[in-house]
Amino acid sequence: MLNAIAQDFEPSAISQVFSLASRLKAEGREIIDLSVGEPDFESPEHVKQAAWAAIQRGETKYTPVEGSIAMRRAAQAKFRRDNGLDYALEQINIGQGAKPLLYRALQATLDPGDEVIVPAPYWASYPGMVKLCGGRPVIVSCPEEVGFKLTPAALAGAITDKTKWVMFNSPSNPTGAVYSRAEYQALGKVLEAHPRVLVMADDIYEHIAFGTEPYVTFAEAVPALMERTVTVNGVSKGYAMTGWRIGFAGGPAILMEAMRRLLSQSEGNPSSISQAAAIAALEGPQDLLAERAAAYRDRRDLVVARLNQTPYLRCSAPEGAFYVYPNCEGLIGKTTPAGQRIEASRDFAAYLLEAHGVTLVPGAAFGMDPYLRLSTAAALTQLEAACDKIARACGELT
Ligand code: PLP
Repeated sequence: MLNAIAQDFEPSAISQVFSLASRLKAEGREIIDLSVGEPDFESPEHVKQAAWAAIQRGETKYTPVEGSIAMRRAAQAKFRRDNGLDYALEQINIGQGAKPLLYRALQATLDPGDEVIVPAPYWASYPGMVKLCGGRPVIVSCPEEVGFKLTPAALAGAITDKTKWVMFNSPSNPTGAVYSRAEYQALGKVLEAHPRVLVMADDIYEHIAFGTEPYVTFAEAVPALMERTVTVNGVSKGYAMTGWRIGFAGGPAILMEAMRRLLSQSEGNPSSISQAAAIAALEGPQDLLAERAAAYRDRRDLVVARLNQTPYLRCSAPEGAFYVYPNCEGLIGKTTPAGQRIEASRDFAAYLLEAHGVTLVPGAAFGMDPYLRLSTAAALTQLEAACDKIARACGELT
């Protein structure tokens, strides 16, 4: 029944933990779930009101596939206000979340065998998206010693005459690494010599950044490459609107137009009601962003401090997003009280879940092991309880 693509598509490394968690929940076990990739905050009240007002106004019909003019103007103003980027309206598309925009940009540009440089650790969806579009993900390892970030030397070493894209995600899922202006400029210098290579800047965690320097996106740091950069963002993470499914992209007009053609024959337009809600998010009060970022920073501080007191774990402090990515090399080779040997981070994740009821994601899902990804999108009390359990789980290993 299935075609070659579906048959070959590997199940995600997260799936083993997910199926175990579902079984334990069905058995009535209480689980602290730190595997999730979404804010625990509510969508803002004024956003909900804007959606209801749109329904009452009868904005319940199709919009243009690239989004309503009002929504595209809101995204245009956001890019100008927050990122200093000037996009014409035809350079902006709205999508059903950031994800389909990333996917359609790749689909509109990749020919079979084209290569996409994916710095690891990466968001778990990038390699799969590239493969679905007929491309070849070129995974470039970015170790913790270089802040989990792509260096100019590693970038230069990975570029071939088949390279079509390089993917940046700052702040990063899963490491929280954030590129500075100077780092982007040094990478931009390498890319200047390769005019064929396009740049994807996935800025979905933009508003969850803890550094003292203002946040900078790639095209802002390297304006000379703006005409071959696609900047993708959305309301999912910063505004806690994952379920509304609104993302936006700015980039070369010719590519945005091609993406529209693909979108028109596939998912079609994003929800008219969600677009009204996203306009309210982008145009309404912005103070909630800093308030929530401060809450995420407090949670990060707690979890990083606790994990660094836990035997066998070592955790650097992420500069953004709502994840921590501790190294767990010290656990490898240890034995659980039930007599199981920990061979890889996934074995520890399974033991932690089964014996102590905490879900997290093994690093293999993000292309760098032995690490663990914990989401800090949970109340401080939950995070404290989870850290207690992790400490107990590690303490019981021999
Ligand atoms: N990019 C990254 C790095 C993500 O972590 C996610 C969601 O987890 C997305 C994009 C997708 O965002 P959206 O929910 O707007 O499609």
